[in-house]
Amino acid sequence: MAKGNFLSRLANFPAPELGSEPISSIAKSDSKQRLELFDSFENLGLGWFWATDAHGRVTYLSNNAAKSLGKPENEVLGSAFGSLFVPQDHDETDKTERPLPFLISARNAFSDLAVRVQHDQAAEHPVWWAISGKPQFINDKTFIGYRGTAKDITHRRQRDRDASRLAQFDALTGLSNRHRMETKMIATLTAYKAAKRSCALMMLDLDRFKQVNDTLGHPAGDELLKQVAQRLKAIVGDMGEIGRLGGDEFLVMLPDIDDRGRLGELANRLIQMISQPYSVNGSRAIIGTSVGIAIAPYDGIETDELVSSTDLALYAAKGGGRGQFRFYSSDLKDGARRRKEIEEDLRDALTQQQIQMHYQPLVQAGTNTVRAFEALMRWKHPERGWIRPSQFIPIAEETSIISDLGEFALMQACKDAMLWPSALSVTVNVSAVQFNNEDFPNIVRRALSAPGLVPSRLELEITESVFMGDPYATKRTFAELKEIGVRLALDDFGTGYSSLGYLRDAPFDKIKIDQSFVRGSTENDNNNAAIITAIVSLAQALGMETVAEGVEAQDELALVTSLGATLVQGWIYAKAMPQQDVVSRLERGELEFVPSGPSKHRADRRTVFRGIGVIHEDHRYDAVLRNLSKTGAMIEGILDVPIGTDLVLDLGQGQLVIGTVRRSSGATQGLQFETALVSDGADGLCTRHRVNPYSLAAAGMPLAALPPGSYPLVSGGHNQTGSRPQFMQIDLNSKGD
Ligand code: C2E
Ligand code: MG
Ligand code: MG
Repeated sequence: MAKGNFLSRLANFPAPELGSEPISSIAKSDSKQRLELFDSFENLGLGWFWATDAHGRVTYLSNNAAKSLGKPENEVLGSAFGSLFVPQDHDETDKTERPLPFLISARNAFSDLAVRVQHDQAAEHPVWWAISGKPQFINDKTFIGYRGTAKDITHRRQRDRDASRLAQFDALTGLSNRHRMETKMIATLTAYKAAKRSCALMMLDLDRFKQVNDTLGHPAGDELLKQVAQRLKAIVGDMGEIGRLGGDEFLVMLPDIDDRGRLGELANRLIQMISQPYSVNGSRAIIGTSVGIAIAPYDGIETDELVSSTDLALYAAKGGGRGQFRFYSSDLKDGARRRKEIEEDLRDALTQQQIQMHYQPLVQAGTNTVRAFEALMRWKHPERGWIRPSQFIPIAEETSIISDLGEFALMQACKDAMLWPSALSVTVNVSAVQFNNEDFPNIVRRALSAPGLVPSRLELEITESVFMGDPYATKRTFAELKEIGVRLALDDFGTGYSSLGYLRDAPFDKIKIDQSFVRGSTENDNNNAAIITAIVSLAQALGMETVAEGVEAQDELALVTSLGATLVQGWIYAKAMPQQDVVSRLERGELEFVPSGPSKHRADRRTVFRGIGVIHEDHRYDAVLRNLSKTGAMIEGILDVPIGTDLVLDLGQGQLVIGTVRRSSGATQGLQFETALVSDGADGLCTRHRVNPYSLAAAGMPLAALPPGSYPLVSGGHNQTGSRPQFMQIDLNSKGD
């Protein structure tokens, strides 16, 4: 009844301008009315009161407060006030505030201290209070306990947390957003610089995401991004922090990893997982990803520097033909510039007649007779010379240039094939961008009708990436092409998604087994031969022919022939040649190609010609690297180094490799490495580890990310004056070549 009184009093309180009645204010001495006021306040839910005795035991707590604690009032009374709340270290309160037990034992006053209530269902629905309290004393001396107020701030806290989550996390995927990643990166890299620790950054950009978005719609694109985020989380786990930078770009920060072998494996796993098909809103979608990697402190010490190195590595990975990773190296800067120039020059290449079609024979296995020629595009750049299609086709695909180039290839190939015997067909590569163009079948019709080529003599080579478009449109295009009467081949089989469904549904006449299965198929340590066997028998069951691509060595030819490949294409027969050469060969009636090549496939040993440093004891020599494989190298420039000598090769950019001389003849030595090199993501090799910029700094060099050039300091070469070289240096400059 007291409560009702107070409220009605409030409601009836006269407005000031009406002030005709006399005011009956509550006298400070009227404890009854003041108690009513107190009760009303408690019941309004605006706040509660609490009090303790000198031992910290609860002596008073508002009714509703006890409810909020989830305990009956009589249970709360007498219990320690501090025990009503979760101890601070175990939860998420502001760590800058002193914990409640400390404040109470020190008899400090506190105000608006956020505390989490000890609650039965605490974990799922945490309840938060803000409490204020003041110690009470008799005669300013004897402590008799606390009195204070409390209020429920659960909702406010939740709202604040949601807002701060929104500001830090990507709403779509739940990953950290750009802002949070930047803050984390700056914090981590600054701390790591002080602690001389390393940290890798991986930047990912999805390939063909835009097409999915365009063909399946934005909701499907969003769904796809969510699934990508899940796959990333599953692979990266707690190795690092993942963020979405916006669009289809992701960043992974991996503290304390600088082993490029491990990072390359991780990048490959990410690429493979992301390239697996997705099911989004009932449709199938296929994308890929490119990955750029840079590592602090080697490729950048400050955040900006490291991010731009990662960016450049990503750019190079994309330029290398997608679905690849790439480590940063200081020569990528030139690569990025070069790519820009290629893009600009490519626009005029066609009109200035710098583009030509060359032809490589596809030979019947066993009989060595040519059955068809594959048209391969060649660009003769006025300054740079021949540029390979793998360097400009991906760039062309990003711009509209691919349509013009593709149409040119079709027109030219059909025209050229008219000059060959009618038993021979021509195969033309068609990029997915071209294939998914509605007008494509018409372009094919025009290319055939202009010179009058019989449709069955034209074969289109397409890759599995065409299936990432709209499935109905793809099906229609296939049907139309079959109606025209051209033949279809599935190129690079085994490198993409290799879904058997494609083979069943699409009307292919031929499967081209990718070079990567043929190369090294004769070595013992891989199952390439088994894969080739499986593809051949699959093709036979479906009534299709097979082509083994990229056959270089005699043993590879023997193997793919014995495994039943119908056709063979590769340097063992011929490289792609200009139309005049094809025509003059055919006019001479030479339909047979003689296989010629090395008898055995040699493990990826690349011929190089590059100046390097060679360190022996504390002397540094100049040498030339003649070839390089993962496990060894051949060098030239030092005379008569005995077999068994340990040397350190300085490959530049902090890459030092320890090797033992296994063969030695005059100024040439063959070395076997102590630790194998790893792939740099492109055609090159690199060391797993590099000289740490911190050790260079310790030796007196200014701290900086590794510049190109040599690293004599670490090998003790700075002491050169005191020692005499053990071997004789040959002057290689006079040798030329
Ligand atoms: P692809 O269709 O798989 O063509 C086979 C590639 O392997 C060609 O490279 C060919 O020169 C190369 N090759 C053939 N035999 C051997 C061998 O024994 N050893 C090695 N190491 N390589 C061999 P190329 O000419 O550089 O073309 C690369 C790719 O560029 C082609 O791969 C194709 O996807 C694309 N491309 C070429 N011309 C065109 C074109 O006119 N239009 C389109 N859209 N793409 C094209
Ligand atoms: Mg091809
Ligand atoms: Mg191919």
